Amino acid sequence: MRIVSHLDMDAFFSAIEERDNLRFRNRPIVVGSDPQGGRGRGVVSTANYKAREYGIRSALPISLAWEYSQRAVAQGREAVLFLGVDMEKYERVSINIRKIVESFGYDFEQASVDEFYIDCSRCETYKNAERLLGRIKSEILKKESLSCSIGIGPNKLIAKIASDIKKPNGLTIVHREEVNSFLFSMAVSKIPGIGPKSVEELLKLGIKTVGELQNISCEDLEKRFGKSGVQMYKKSHGVDDEAVIESQEVKSIGSQETFSKDTRDAKEIISMVEKLVFSTYERFIDSSFVSFSRISVSVRFSDFSTIQRSKTLSGPMSKRVDLEFLALQMFLSFLDSRENKKRKAVRLIGIRLEKLNSQRNLFL
Ligand SMILES: [Mg+2]
Repeated sequence: MRIVSHLDMDAFFSAIEERDNLRFRNRPIVVGSDPQGGRGRGVVSTANYKAREYGIRSALPISLAWEYSQRAVAQGREAVLFLGVDMEKYERVSINIRKIVESFGYDFEQASVDEFYIDCSRCETYKNAERLLGRIKSEILKKESLSCSIGIGPNKLIAKIASDIKKPNGLTIVHREEVNSFLFSMAVSKIPGIGPKSVEELLKLGIKTVGELQNISCEDLEKRFGKSGVQMYKKSHGVDDEAVIESQEVKSIGSQETFSKDTRDAKEIISMVEKLVFSTYERFIDSSFVSFSRISVSVRFSDFSTIQRSKTLSGPMSKRVDLEFLALQMFLSFLDSRENKKRKAVRLIGIRLEKLNSQRNLFL
């Protein structure tokens, strides 16, 4: 029997800061870019649970987080404490946690700086898996004074969704036969991979819950969303065959998109580039990296010939506008004779961020 668990540290960055600084305890804390009195342009990396009561979440623009804090102060509540991202420190802690997970001798995959999948099939029963994860959890608490939340299920997808159910310090088990009832009334946005844009599209079809999504056929979803529609279909039924793989070091972040029809239309291509920049940048923000210094773009034409071009930047870069500008510039040459003499139609485009850097930036 396949049993997979997902271990997710609770508000990882801010929990580390609270642990290491007595004066931060029991205060609303946001770890992220410098708010610059409300003019800052970055985003929130992590908000602790107190700051979440103010409506502050990961990936929220830092200027908004600042505004929420100001509003809370006006209501007589405590101001949020804004801290810079000390990625070096968080990565050191991450390595310690990895070692703890490793020491239990099960196959595992580190999915991000604060997330692990552990293959518990060898436990044979959910009860045993629960005991194992309980031990890992208390070991992390004992050695690192940090809490985490656990999900246990028949595959990675269900385990991941389950770990989010009782945060912080939770443990949620979903047996194979419970998968359907577990997913049924859940909002579609809870499914990893169904982003805000898909949520919006689904809402247009009157779909809010996973149960409602289950009523749509795979073909219809594919028509509407392409390949990701097929994924959506599988996920809505709790199906996921992804293996827990010993993770390799992440060396680049990228995404690619195939056009629903091969195209020469500049407008269509540019809007796809913008879409790709958006999704790639989102993954970059979610990653433990703080900057990149090389951009690669690739284009596949209707005859399946593929061109790849890379540009090494003059220095590390971390802003979306800069990425968008450069990516557009690089793609435009594929639209004219510079890279496309025969004016072939474009089938697929991709963007990749390389030379990723996890050193912290210089604010604070
Ligand atoms: Mg986490």
